[in-house]
Amino acid sequence: MKYIVVSGGVVSGLGKGITISSLGRLLKSCGLSVTSIKIDPYLNVDAGTMSPFEHGEVFTLHDGGEADLDLGNYERFLGVRLSKDHNITTGKVYREVISRERRGDYLGKTVQVVPHITNEIQDWIERVAQIPVQEAEGAQGQVADVCLIEVGGTVGDIESMVFLEALRQFQFKVGEENFMLMFVSLVPVLGSVGEQKTKPTQHGVKELMSLGLFPKVIFCRSSQPLETATCKKISSFCHVPPSCVLSVHDVDNIYHVPLLLMEQNLHGIILDHLKLQAPVLPPDIG
Ligand code: ADP
Repeated sequence: MKYIVVSGGVVSGLGKGITISSLGRLLKSCGLSVTSIKIDPYLNVDAGTMSPFEHGEVFTLHDGGEADLDLGNYERFLGVRLSKDHNITTGKVYREVISRERRGDYLGKTVQVVPHITNEIQDWIERVAQIPVQEAEGAQGQVADVCLIEVGGTVGDIESMVFLEALRQFQFKVGEENFMLMFVSLVPVLGSVGEQKTKPTQHGVKELMSLGLFPKVIFCRSSQPLETATCKKISSFCHVPPSCVLSVHDVDNIYHVPLLLMEQNLHGIILDHLKLQAPVLPPDIG
């Protein structure tokens, strides 16, 4: 199993979910099967009790699980059916560990965030990634080639720290050629000067690196296509080649985002890093 982990920085609502769904769609068009996991670092067990005014629309999964709308994006873009276990929240992880502690499963040990919570997160990811992906009700599913993992929230939040630590450990558990980290950032344009600013991206990547996580691809969300100079600057400050700094500028129709990523050879970068053989090569995005 290959894992692609995507985290985001600067602000929420950046378009992380759309970017990841689009990247999944691109991999599907290469003939690979894809599953996805959404991590939401809040203490609510699920999104069912959260106000839609605060959190946005709740997406109801086929098994009745109530989740973030991003799971809806994954289902629509990837044509798969996900379960409530594909949405990991802090509440679910702690609930599981605490119920084990009450049963005495830890045999008198002191139960701690590291290693008990971090191990639970890693086990959960491995278990859910192996669930066969069903494309329709009753259809025979198969275990996916690639598992996309979206880490909700922004890098630097206290809430997401435990998940990032679990993923830092996870990259060594599964091995370098099975793990690829990506980062979605904002490149704002300042009014009068009209210059694309790279500092928020630099800070976000620096924060990730200080946690032992090194992104291989940086998605830059901006209103206009990324300029060559901006791309080079991000590349030199964030330790990735310019070809791995991708422009995910605003488009009229979000279903064009997979094409945007394909034009910038994201599939080639992923296949190369994860040492994957693609049964077909785009363009043939449906
Ligand atoms: P996040 O997962 O970061 O909270 P979403 O993926 O839910 O963000 O996207 C937030 C909003 O931005 C959505 O309304 C989505 O349609 C829009 N959006 C995302 N990417 C793009 C894009 N490249 N161009 C235009 N709109 C986008």
